[in-house]
Amino acid sequence: MIFSSDKRNLLSLAVPVILTLILYGVYDFSLRSYITFFIYLTLGIVSIFMAFRLSVFKKPLIRFAIVFLFTYLSVYVFSLLLGLNTSLFDFCKGIAFSLVAFSACTMVKALALAIETVFLRKICLVISYVVLFAFVLLPSVLICYFVATGSLISSDIIIALAQTNATEGTEFIQSNFNIMWFLAFVALVVIYAINAFFFRKVEGVDSKNLSVFLSFFLCLASSVWLALPRMDYLPFSIIKVTSKQLDNFEIYKQQKSQRLAKLNKLNTLKLSDSTDPAGNLFVLVVGESETRDRMQAYGFDRENTPYLCEHLKNPNHILFTNAYSSWPQTVQALSYSLTEANQYQKKQTVDAYSIIELARASGFDTYWISNQRKYGVYETPVTVISSTANHEIWVNGSSKMEGVFFDEEIVKRFPNIDDNKNVFVVIHLMGSHQKYDKRLPSEFIRFEGQDETLDYYDDTVLYTDYILEKIYSKASEKSNFKAMIYFSDHGEDPHVVGGHDPVNLNGQMLRIPLAVYLSDRYVQDNPKIHDALVQNKDKYFSNDLIFDLTVRIMGISGLPGMDDSLNLADKAYALDKNSVLTMYGKMHLDEIPETKH
Ligand SMILES: [Zn+2]
Repeated sequence: MIFSSDKRNLLSLAVPVILTLILYGVYDFSLRSYITFFIYLTLGIVSIFMAFRLSVFKKPLIRFAIVFLFTYLSVYVFSLLLGLNTSLFDFCKGIAFSLVAFSACTMVKALALAIETVFLRKICLVISYVVLFAFVLLPSVLICYFVATGSLISSDIIIALAQTNATEGTEFIQSNFNIMWFLAFVALVVIYAINAFFFRKVEGVDSKNLSVFLSFFLCLASSVWLALPRMDYLPFSIIKVTSKQLDNFEIYKQQKSQRLAKLNKLNTLKLSDSTDPAGNLFVLVVGESETRDRMQAYGFDRENTPYLCEHLKNPNHILFTNAYSSWPQTVQALSYSLTEANQYQKKQTVDAYSIIELARASGFDTYWISNQRKYGVYETPVTVISSTANHEIWVNGSSKMEGVFFDEEIVKRFPNIDDNKNVFVVIHLMGSHQKYDKRLPSEFIRFEGQDETLDYYDDTVLYTDYILEKIYSKASEKSNFKAMIYFSDHGEDPHVVGGHDPVNLNGQMLRIPLAVYLSDRYVQDNPKIHDALVQNKDKYFSNDLIFDLTVRIMGISGLPGMDDSLNLADKAYALDKNSVLTMYGKMHLDEIPETKH
């Protein structure tokens, strides 16, 4: 008797230890491997079997199992509805995940019920409901987001929200809030309430089986840590992708000093012979959420770019008619535009020099002037790039500062630069970022039509045109002014939630303006570049190559790996409608989905 009880105790400890070792062992195996697939699937099946085996009353457990698993697996119905292809392989792992999650919830409750001290038992019961909430929240977030927006939440949306600060977050909600968000919240409450209702009836385990129960509980605990994160349940894998991307941002930041050290050793960098020895000023203006579909200069029927249209009468000012964004969100698009990384050469952002790093290494005094907020919850490659500049001007200060300035503040804060130096200024506008009416001084609220959202959007385009004009005149007052380049990070569809996101992608979010303004002196000194730009003005282009274009216009050469056939300022520019890419190299232009309004 004693012997057999000892054996049982030994076994109840050995099983969780062995399982932990196995799970730890396969933790680094490929997710596609059949070994891990088999282990995780077995784990799911065994855990639901054990949960039923141990529990005293089976009926309430069956009811709870049905409700819980229905909640969990409904996310796959949504993904099917949206035409997302989840493989059978991932679906099975999703089921196994759900089974382990189900068993974990019921066993936490069973553990609570097994406690004899009344007070402690009550606390542990409350904890079991919190655990249930945490597990139910996973599918609920996806379901509720679908209720509110009709689309699946993606890691890009989470990252975009993580990068915004409180003010922008509030504005996002104001811009997109409607009765559906309220319904989404109601849905969350209802989903949890139903699960909690059936969870309430779940009973504890048979006291004869206590040692087996504890052993199983330990097994579940190690599964939650070592298996669940790898089991590809749809909402969980979205979280995983998100944190991986945020890690990449962190790596980019950590490698900054290595890149600088490498760049300083690079002795091939030089300025072109046609560079004015008396000093050069180059200005790169980065727009925000401006689609060329709604710009007068590109044929839109509202007069919202009068200054740009006037400029285009000057042959030194060139408008590019077929520019696209590489990704419909700020940080991702600019991580490519402002660094060597691009869709064509497979160079990752992490080891790509930024335009500021390169300008500095080539002897330019560099400025970063931004009307966007410096920090959201996370630092991004954009803030890392800006931090390399000799001078940083953050009009809006830190995220703690609630004051919102219009883009005009940038003009007021335009630095008093030295005319005898080589200076490179990057300006990051707030442009047409939602919420549109918040970007506009009252005198720029002009257009009135059927649709207030579009009216405000078109007003922001008009305002940006005015700001560009102001920046241009400030810069061209300087005797060393040579060129200004303007492009938008991505476009915008004002009728889509958030205005631009990869899940609801359409062409309007990718079609962007690009304009180059050259001074007379610059054209005189660099006729070849001017000719090439004019020759290429209707060529297809993606804004990840802004780096190459800017570097060439600034006269910097000697950076290894530069390719003339990707340079819009070179006669050899070779990209066309079929070879230009978007969506980080995953999409050709003719594959971009179009929505009809
Ligand atoms: Zn943007």
